[in-house]
Amino acid sequence: MSSDEADSRPEKTAEPSPHKHENRLPHTPPVQRRPAIMQEPVLVLNATFEPINVTAVRRAMVLLIKGVAQAEELHHREVHSTSRAMKIPSVIRLLAYRHIPQQTRALSRKNILLRDRNTCQFCLGVFSAAELTLDHVVPRSRGGRSSWENLVACCYECNNRKGDRTPEEAGIQLARRPRPFTLYTSRQLMRLIGHRDERWRKYLFY
Ligand SMILES: [Zn+2]
Repeated sequence: MSSDEADSRPEKTAEPSPHKHENRLPHTPPVQRRPAIMQEPVLVLNATFEPINVTAVRRAMVLLIKGVAQAEELHHREVHSTSRAMKIPSVIRLLAYRHIPQQTRALSRKNILLRDRNTCQFCLGVFSAAELTLDHVVPRSRGGRSSWENLVACCYECNNRKGDRTPEEAGIQLARRPRPFTLYTSRQLMRLIGHRDERWRKYLFY
């Protein structure tokens, strides 16, 4: 597993259920939910200080204890184990340089939803992961491939309306052209996830 494939979002996404969208949750993007302290996001830097990933406090602390990474920025809060108290990291840095390939993300449901920020690419509604499905823009029956460029997050309502047709045929419009998950996408997401934490700013240049 490449390091960038590790959780960018601390919470696991549930599998879609066709019945779930009956009782719709409030349209809150998952990144804005307030996670428990061990699930708080931690920015992971490469040895060269380049931001490469976001992980959860729990995993970051394992990396610190193992001596794989060191803390660059700390929260004021501490967690206590039986033997000692440890400040919660906000930014950690890997001690050994890790090569990050250009295309670091695996094509997966989770990563498509992450790229599209849980937003239906037709109606622009923001949904929980369970309320979204993946839509083949060009249907598979027309030779549409399962690729970054042909798969988008889609709510069940739009998916039903579109059916086995292209967006043009269904009379609906794609919000934007789907692209692979690039380093740029990752940076944007890191800024979004870390917008409440001032300590991340200098590493993400904003
Ligand atoms: Zn929709």
